[in-house]
Amino acid sequence: MSDSRTTITFARGDGIGPEIMDSTLEVLRAAGARLDYEEIEIGEKQYLAGNTSGIGPEDWKTLQRNRIFLKSPITTPLGSGYKSLNVTVRKSLRLFSNVRPCRAYAPYVSTNFPDIDMVIIRENEEDLYAGIEHQQTDEVVQTLKLVSRPGCEAICRYAMEYARAYGRKKVTCLTKSNIMKHTDGLFQKVFEEIAKEPQYSDIETEHRIIDIGAALVAAHPEDLDVIVTLNLYGDIVSDIAALVAGSVGLAGSANIGFDAAMFEAVHGSAPDIAGKDIANPSGLIHAATKMLVHLDQGDVAEKIRNAWLKTLEDGIHTADIYKESLSKEKVGTKAFTQAVIERLGQKPTVFEPVAFANKGIRIELPEHPPREKKLVGIDVFIDWTDSDRDPDVIGTRLQACNGDGLKLKLITNRGVKVFPEGLKETFCTDHWRCRFILEEGLEKCSHSQISSLMLRVANAGFDFIKTEHLYTFDGERGYSLAQGE
Ligand code: NAD
Repeated sequence: MSDSRTTITFARGDGIGPEIMDSTLEVLRAAGARLDYEEIEIGEKQYLAGNTSGIGPEDWKTLQRNRIFLKSPITTPLGSGYKSLNVTVRKSLRLFSNVRPCRAYAPYVSTNFPDIDMVIIRENEEDLYAGIEHQQTDEVVQTLKLVSRPGCEAICRYAMEYARAYGRKKVTCLTKSNIMKHTDGLFQKVFEEIAKEPQYSDIETEHRIIDIGAALVAAHPEDLDVIVTLNLYGDIVSDIAALVAGSVGLAGSANIGFDAAMFEAVHGSAPDIAGKDIANPSGLIHAATKMLVHLDQGDVAEKIRNAWLKTLEDGIHTADIYKESLSKEKVGTKAFTQAVIERLGQKPTVFEPVAFANKGIRIELPEHPPREKKLVGIDVFIDWTDSDRDPDVIGTRLQACNGDGLKLKLITNRGVKVFPEGLKETFCTDHWRCRFILEEGLEKCSHSQISSLMLRVANAGFDFIKTEHLYTFDGERGYSLAQGE
């Protein structure tokens, strides 16, 4: 537990944001949180004033200085040209981990799965969210999926440390490594390396393919504990989980980095109920308790969380969860806030009281010696529609470009081998991946050999649209084999 005070940045946001932030700050103050506060303005007004990422330059400086951000939801104006504030903050402050607990509060909140209590830990900076996309031919577009070893190490270690800190029993890693052997394969490999470390020996670990993993989240969520996964899968799975738990309006999330963090409710700015004193402030209150744990003020977090559970048990409910059979009193945002404050120091009796003995989680990344990288070939992508797209024609013409130690090994179309000896049934688009590799007996080639090859391909009249170098790292193949290779 830390006695020192921390200055945090907070923003009231849009819609119901100001009401739920006022409620949360009141609870924090009443509970004795050791915090000082600096307010910034984010959201719609900033967007409309011409700050395309929803935050002004001065406010950005405040955020960078304090590095702890409690954020209300914002309304993103309709129309293009606005950048997501969340993505900007995540990337700029290197908030690599998104943590979304997902639990049921039965019988007070309806759910088919009263025993759900899982946490989804999602990689936050990489994967398909790099948004690097290109139209390469008339028929084919592509997006780049980028996954790094340090990125995998940070998130997988964070998940294992989280499980340890919160006494969780099992960590499930979800990937599609059976198909994406290099990107998702790296994530799985790093997870398995870290999971084997002796300090995690009492935590059960497993890897599952994302399809069955997502189905499990929907059908047997109570069997899952901590999930760690890549950005896109985490995005999808956390919404499935929130829906089956029935408590999306109550959940808070944390975006954690090495020396910065952002905490917010999972829901949006709910403009339909803004300014009416009916919004449920619980999501932001939960986000704030996560912030306190992160700041090593688990004692205050515990007090707030137990008071909140007691309020729920006592049947004091906002309109979104009110049920005549279970609730005692339907209250607005302000009255709910007062009810929580009155219960500070009390413990729930139906729900298990929480105890946050742990500190915020800090991780360090290991350094790895660089591996020996050898250039062993090139994939040349060609836009080609001549000769009724006959693979044997493009193959024979490209073989004429062989030389200087490099020869055509195969051609694929959308990943399927079509030359040599393709199947005539395979549908061919205008996008051909032509793999040139080193001749037998050669160990590596140079960039000038690759350049000469490209010149021969261009002189043969081919429209090459992109290339990917083929490397080995310490002798290990750094590229996927084609289907049928
Ligand atoms: P929303 O979550 O704001 O609202 C969905 C429904 O849930 C609405 O009926 C709303 O009244 C209700 N609801 C949400 N929070 C509630 C609460 N605390 N108490 C009671 N009821 C609540 O989603 P939306 O309508 O799709 O989005 C509205 C705006 O919020 C959009 O501009 C969207 O871009 C933005 N948004 C922002 C964030 C964020 O800032 N992190 C996240 C999601 C959506």
